[in-house]
Amino acid sequence: LPGLYIVATPIGNLGDITLRSVDVLGRCDAVACEDTRVTGKLMSHLGISKPLWRYNDHSDEAARANLVQRMHDQAVVLVSDAGTPLISDPGYRLVQDARAAGIMVTSLPGACAAVVGLTLSGLPNDRFLFAGFLPSKEQARARALEEFAAIDATLLFYETGPRLVKSLTAIDAAMPARQVSVARELTKMFEECRSGTAAGLAAHYTDNPPKGEIVLMVGPPPQKDASAFDVDALLTEALKADKPS
Ligand code: SAM
Repeated sequence: LPGLYIVATPIGNLGDITLRSVDVLGRCDAVACEDTRVTGKLMSHLGISKPLWRYNDHSDEAARANLVQRMHDQAVVLVSDAGTPLISDPGYRLVQDARAAGIMVTSLPGACAAVVGLTLSGLPNDRFLFAGFLPSKEQARARALEEFAAIDATLLFYETGPRLVKSLTAIDAAMPARQVSVARELTKMFEECRSGTAAGLAAHYTDNPPKGEIVLMVGPPPQKDASAFDVDALLTEALKADKPS
C-alpha cells in the first residue's frame, strides 16, 4: 500500500527489529534514511536491497515535497540511524507534510533508547519527561536544568561520553539529592546501568571516562508535602473513630 511507514531500527543489538518491520522493509518501494551507509549495513544484514534516499530535517522544502509526492503511489519507509525515527532524530516535518497531503502514515514500534534506559533504571516511571540532549553551552545548560528542577517527574536526557561528567556536575548543582542513573551501551555487549547521586556518578566517570552512547536519567524531586498525606490519614482515622458502631 502506498504511504509513509515510520520504522524503528535496532539501537545496538541487530536482533531488535520486529518481524513486521522486516516484512515492511522487504515490501516497500524505497527507504528514506539519515545516512545511506548506516542503513545500507542494516539492509544487507537483513538481506534486503531497496533504493535508499537520503533525508533529514535540513533537507529543503523541495526535496521534502518531492518525497511526499512519491508517497501517493509508492510505499516509502522512514528510518533513522538507530532507534525510533523522530525521537531526537529527523522526520517530524516529513510526517507533518505527509499527513497534510492526505498520505497514509503509520508507525511501526521498536527500540527507543530513552524507554530502554527508563525501564532498566528502576526510577519511578509513572511520570517522565524526555528532554533530548541538554544544551552544550554551560550557561544554557544551567538555565535548562533550573527549569527542569521544578518538574515533578523523572527526567530523561540523551548524552555523549565526553559531556557526561559536565552534565552530572551541572545536575548536582541544580538539583542535588536526586537519584540519578546512567544507562550506557544499551542492548550491546558492554551494556551498563549505574545509579547513585549526581556527585557520586561524576566522580566515578571522571576516573572511568565513559565510552559509547548514554541515556542520563534523574529521579523526581523528593515529595515536598509528605506531611499533607499524614494529615489526610489522621483525618480518615478521626472520621472512622467518630462513626457509631
Ligand atoms: N532515535 C533514537 C532512539 O530512538 O533512541 C535516538 C537518536 S539520538 C540522535 C542518539 C542518542 O540516543 C545517543 O547519543 C544516546 O544518547 C542515545 N542512544 C542511542 N542508542 C543508545 C544505546 N544503545 N545506549 C544508550 N543510549 C543510546
